[in-house]
Amino acid sequence: MLIMFGLLPDTIIENLLIMNKHKYTVELLYHFTCGNCHLWWSWASTPTQVKNYPLSLPEDEPIFCPHCGTKNTMKVKEGFEDE
Ligand SMILES: [Zn+2]
Repeated sequence: MLIMFGLLPDTIIENLLIMNKHKYTVELLYHFTCGNCHLWWSWASTPTQVKNYPLSLPEDEPIFCPHCGTKNTMKVKEGFEDE
């Protein structure tokens, strides 16, 4: 919707700006590298909140490599996190 801001009183413009704020969502993209075949894949997740959302995945739950089928648990790649 195109709004001709110059033709409206400031209070109406302020209300329109509040009502028509730009909106955003967040998508997390995890990258995995198989410990067996060393090929990689990605997995996207949509968090349910934007503040204080836990980014780590459960390291005790095994997942399957979509390339070779190896089932294993995972850990954060060395060097990714600040020490
Ligand atoms: Zn694999």
